Amino acid sequence: MADTKYIFVTGGVVSSLGKGIVAASLGKLLQARGYHVTIQKFDPYINVDPGTLNPYEHGECYVTVDGHEADLDLGHYERFLNIPTTKANNVTTGRIYQSVIEKERRGDYLGKTVQVIPHITDEIKRNMKALSKNNFDFIISEIGGTVGDIESLPYLESVRQMKWELGRNCVCVHLTYVPYIAAAKEYKSKPTQHSVKQLQELGIQPDILVLRTEHLLNRDFIRKVALFCNVGEDAVMQSVDVPTIYEVPLMLQKQGMASVLLRKVGIEPGPQPEMKKWREFIKRMTDATETVHIGLVGKYVELQDAYKSIDESLLQAATYNDHRLDLHLFHSEKIDDSNVAGQLSGMDGILIAPGFGPRGIDGKLSAIRYAREHDIPCFGVCLGMQCMVIEFARNVLGMGGANSTEMDSGTPYKVIDLMEDQKSVINMGGTMRLGAYDCLLKKDSQAYAAYGKELVSERHRHRFEFNNEYRERFEAAGMRCVGENPESGLVEVIEMPALKWFIGTQYHPEYNSTVVNPNPLFVSFVKAAIDNKKK
Ligand code: GLN
Repeated sequence: MADTKYIFVTGGVVSSLGKGIVAASLGKLLQARGYHVTIQKFDPYINVDPGTLNPYEHGECYVTVDGHEADLDLGHYERFLNIPTTKANNVTTGRIYQSVIEKERRGDYLGKTVQVIPHITDEIKRNMKALSKNNFDFIISEIGGTVGDIESLPYLESVRQMKWELGRNCVCVHLTYVPYIAAAKEYKSKPTQHSVKQLQELGIQPDILVLRTEHLLNRDFIRKVALFCNVGEDAVMQSVDVPTIYEVPLMLQKQGMASVLLRKVGIEPGPQPEMKKWREFIKRMTDATETVHIGLVGKYVELQDAYKSIDESLLQAATYNDHRLDLHLFHSEKIDDSNVAGQLSGMDGILIAPGFGPRGIDGKLSAIRYAREHDIPCFGVCLGMQCMVIEFARNVLGMGGANSTEMDSGTPYKVIDLMEDQKSVINMGGTMRLGAYDCLLKKDSQAYAAYGKELVSERHRHRFEFNNEYRERFEAAGMRCVGENPESGLVEVIEMPALKWFIGTQYHPEYNSTVVNPNPLFVSFVKAAIDNKKK
């Protein structure tokens, strides 16, 4: 295919419409037809990246292979498309301004007044096109926020310009919300009309509309929306609530979304692809009758998106084990030694979540002790792994007050300590050990058995590490360090061979689990949980 085609996905009426899922689904449908596709997200906030945001603000922080702290939508893109994203796939207003200001300081603007238009919009456009050097057939750009937000204006102006410059090689997809007014027993199209009007005022005519609705809308409704929004009837899609987000591509395929889009860019669509692997996955998910109960222990469990990648990895792993996942959420601040048995006794497996800071640590330690003493499969991720080490030090090695220096800088036993190269770090943003690093696994370990290979590469996001000074004492007492980084010797994986499945990883395997390629450690953990339940 000659020119790269650009697809812009915007949203109106309300946020949380699932723009990321629609963008990922559209990407999947094009990929299934053999096109080389990537998806990027533009976030209109001023933070340079979401790494400094806490999960209350923006849900999980996703990490790319090249060490970028990214919006969680990139997780959806990767899980759907099964290809890695990079720093170039997620750009914020903060990054745009940072770059423009750096150029201004260097004198690149040759004495000109630096303005939102054209300098900020040019920088946005440069970023929108940045991935084209990789010869993608389609670059899908999701614009964060909602049409009408002040922050979104420079992005929408950039989209308008791109559309003008690219002509047929550019398609705008707009998502809106169709509310149901129970008292009138009616679906309402007015918010959609207003939102499209707002886009039109900014000079953008959407080519395809996606109406988010709870139930299927009738043909008259679609006709009306098409007429009032200047969009062909065949280009009005419906995104109806479905039991799993993984059904969204199939739902949109049924409505011919990719075919409509291809025609708009001048390509004859041909037959619809089978999506065999994808359908098989959904079939296994829906056919499963038995349930595995996994307990997730963390301090952000009340937030829907705080552990997004972990939730999805567990779901994928349960599906590949032909089980339904029943995920039980346990707030780590509400667990203690006196109530832990009551809370966790029905769990087939327990996952200890990542995190930062001391809040909720004691609950994690109680949960780990319970899992260790009752031999319940237990998976510690990042801080979860560090807590496994702390619990073992205190309760098995007798090191009273052992801790991570993150929680207690005066601890007598610094079993988890700041990494050497972190000691001089002052800035918080983008300064952790981030991205993919190699990990060499011991051949006689459970972790090796799960991966089926010695050398793995997984993503990281941490400042603290297992303190190697204590390694021998841990190993002698039954906690082995079975994975380490070949260059630095940093401990990556710990496990207790005497137990059924008790593994902690300093890295985050959840960032590397997709629908067609589930992470082996998650699959192995869920399998152990199922075996445990059967006993
Ligand atoms: N707070 C810990 C550290 O910085 C763990 C981080 C995490 O769980 N992602 O090392």
